[in-house]
Amino acid sequence: MSLNELEERISEISGVNVDACYQCGKCSAGCLFTAHMDLLPHQVLMYIQRGDESVLDNETPWICASCFTCSVRCPRGVDVAAVMESLRELRIRERGYETIDLRKIENLKDLPQIALTAAAQKLTW
Ligand code: SF4
Ligand code: SF4
Repeated sequence: MSLNELEERISEISGVNVDACYQCGKCSAGCLFTAHMDLLPHQVLMYIQRGDESVLDNETPWICASCFTCSVRCPRGVDVAAVMESLRELRIRERGYETIDLRKIENLKDLPQIALTAAAQKLTW
């Protein structure tokens, strides 16, 4: 089965084939941060499988702490944490940030820490 456009973009960044997910929910069952997420990790995967780009506006990737519990638990070898990271990357790119200058961000303390992690390769100082 061929990948949809969103799956291809995710795969290009993360190397993950989201189609391998069969929606068992083990990733979500092990995630400690689901109480704060608007979409559970397995639901994020489902949106991507459907090619639904509204997932790029979802806040779950910014709540994700990159703890890799989901990736370790997945029976299909789907690196869910890498998918979350690629969603952060895509959103940063779509907002036009090729580089991020921390000196120009007025409220640095208001950014999710994970946003800085996602942007780390793009930082200028
Ligand atoms: S644990 Fe793996 S196969 Fe199961 S829902 Fe999560 S990503 Fe999909
Ligand atoms: S990496 Fe993110 S989505 Fe996965 S278990 Fe940890 S906090 Fe949850």
